[in-house]
Amino acid sequence: MIVDIAVPRPVEGSFHYDVPAELVDKVKVGMVIEAPFGKSSTIGFVVGLPQSSSLDPSRIRSISSVLTPEPLFDQTMLEFLTWVSQYYCHPLGEVISAAIPKQSWETAKKSPARKKRELPLEMLAGSAPENLTDAQKEAVAKILDPQDNRPVLLHGVTGSGKTEVYIRCLESMMAEGKGAIVLVPEISLTPLLLARFSVRFPGIVAVWHSHLTPRERREEWEKVRSGQARIVIGARSAVFAPINNLGCIVVDEEHETSFKQEEDLRYHARDMAIVRANRSGAKVILGSATPSVESYHNTTTGKFAYARLATRVQDRPMPKIAIIDLKDEEQKISEVPWLSQTLDIALRKTLADGKQSILYLNRLGFSHMLYCDDCGHTWRCNNCDIGLTYYRQPRVLRCHYCNMRRPVPDTCPECKGHSIETFGFGTEQVEKTIQERFPTARIARMDRSVVKTKRDLEELIERISRRDVDIVIGTQMIAKGHDFPGITLVGILTADANLNIPDFRAHERTFQMLTQVSGRAGRATDPGEVIIQSLQPNHPIIQTILNQTTETFFQTELESRRSHRFPPFSRLALVRFQHKNAARVSSFAQSCVRHLLNEFTRQGIQCSILGPSEAPLARLRNYYRWHCLVKSGGVAELRKAIAVVNAYTQSQKSSVQVTYDIDPMNAM
Ligand SMILES: [Zn+2]
Ligand SMILES: [Zn+2]
Repeated sequence: MIVDIAVPRPVEGSFHYDVPAELVDKVKVGMVIEAPFGKSSTIGFVVGLPQSSSLDPSRIRSISSVLTPEPLFDQTMLEFLTWVSQYYCHPLGEVISAAIPKQSWETAKKSPARKKRELPLEMLAGSAPENLTDAQKEAVAKILDPQDNRPVLLHGVTGSGKTEVYIRCLESMMAEGKGAIVLVPEISLTPLLLARFSVRFPGIVAVWHSHLTPRERREEWEKVRSGQARIVIGARSAVFAPINNLGCIVVDEEHETSFKQEEDLRYHARDMAIVRANRSGAKVILGSATPSVESYHNTTTGKFAYARLATRVQDRPMPKIAIIDLKDEEQKISEVPWLSQTLDIALRKTLADGKQSILYLNRLGFSHMLYCDDCGHTWRCNNCDIGLTYYRQPRVLRCHYCNMRRPVPDTCPECKGHSIETFGFGTEQVEKTIQERFPTARIARMDRSVVKTKRDLEELIERISRRDVDIVIGTQMIAKGHDFPGITLVGILTADANLNIPDFRAHERTFQMLTQVSGRAGRATDPGEVIIQSLQPNHPIIQTILNQTTETFFQTELESRRSHRFPPFSRLALVRFQHKNAARVSSFAQSCVRHLLNEFTRQGIQCSILGPSEAPLARLRNYYRWHCLVKSGGVAELRKAIAVVNAYTQSQKSSVQVTYDIDPMNAM
């Protein structure tokens, strides 16, 4: 008996092994086995039972043992994982081992059960609303329409009740005996959603995320595989959960970049959710207040259906938005360039009224931002339309896509002024200054350096809900779907930081961030106020936020993407080069790109290249990093380009590490 084995190693293809007579009855597709591999041994996954092998029988080795009593994946799942492997140019064995937690075949170690803190679930979850709004009813009907199996983009403003739509759809799925997967960007940031699902679907929800202990992981997996749990809620890897009779996959906050895995198998869980659902005839709901440009585009081409929730539940008003020009002399407060008079006064008033405020800042790309203090001009690359990054040593502006460099100008090209400056500050500095200006205020910080665990976050959320905090200062984390009725003021310290990140999605990210953060204001009866400070108050993106004209944003952004041939009008692959020696990595990157360009011409491969250039994170964990961006009309051509890179890397026997990222979300 011959078995076809995929091994979790960076090798291409699968391997034939013989099965000793005593194991023949025990081997099926989907099982985990142990086998000799080179001079050592490996675990492997049975991916086929071929009739025979064309290999020389003397070269076929035997598997040594079978590690699982039952298959861990069925034929449908295997076909899906094979598709994933081909799409992302990643070995099948590594795809399988990324999809299936190793605890499911490793013998359970005796780890003590962790004491679970009993959450006040009912309190967190609130009561189920009796009536849906008309828009919610329409959305549910559209999603459950048996005539239309397209993914549905559920585009609902913050506070419009998307979670209730998911719950109603899933109730209908459960009644039909089907199962469901709910993907959330980061489980530790969504205690509310988790509480609501646990209360509405008692006893059948499994939770899946990276903070589980090995024992919990094994238990949750077993609950799902045995069918005891019919709903899995989890971060991106839950897209591979072995739910039987899959009826629906929900992707909440579908625009979030954390759905993209940034190491090893670089898959996008939203995209894989669509592929998996399509293969199993299941529905897909993509929910967001700020859909990705790609998903929105898919609704205009008819690939996705579209459901809109344009108003907040219970007719709660949208917040009032004001834009403040940080360059305005009358707004300036000496020594505090990031705080305007308007925001200062609003903070004071909110504090006096006994209400709560949020101050949001983004540190990304900050110290590297050059701007004109007279007119707000910033510098962008003519080729790639992304923000140029400012370097002090040597003093240059540089494009991280095409590697264009230019000297730092003394005069602003826009207004001919000479006040060219950099801008930068951190959360700690903001906290210190705010505490000095408002000595009686109770201040809390919500960012990665303070909130490290789910428990930290829950405690902070409880403190804010109990109104033990007057001013919350935070980064991205603050923008997630928390619902604090006491927050009436949201101050965005500078809206510009995002606009300047060296990424073609910079405008999209800024739009999403500003909309999400603004959505934290006025979730109860009080409408709330949002004050956005900016160096470029007339920037089209800032203006779309002010006027709350989402459709305009999508149209403008899609036109710009079309003219620069960025997704969704092209496909991208990022090729990354890393080495401990700076000179070696740069010369290898350059010779590899020269070779690629030659091969494109010789083989007629329809791709173009931006770069190579040094990565924005030029050095990470002692490795120097370069990259290039391969652009094409289709993923098949990208795959040809990657095959060329692969062959070149092997032929050069270089010690430079080369990795690929198909559909990259992040070119840092
Ligand atoms: Zn200027
Ligand atoms: Zn460029």
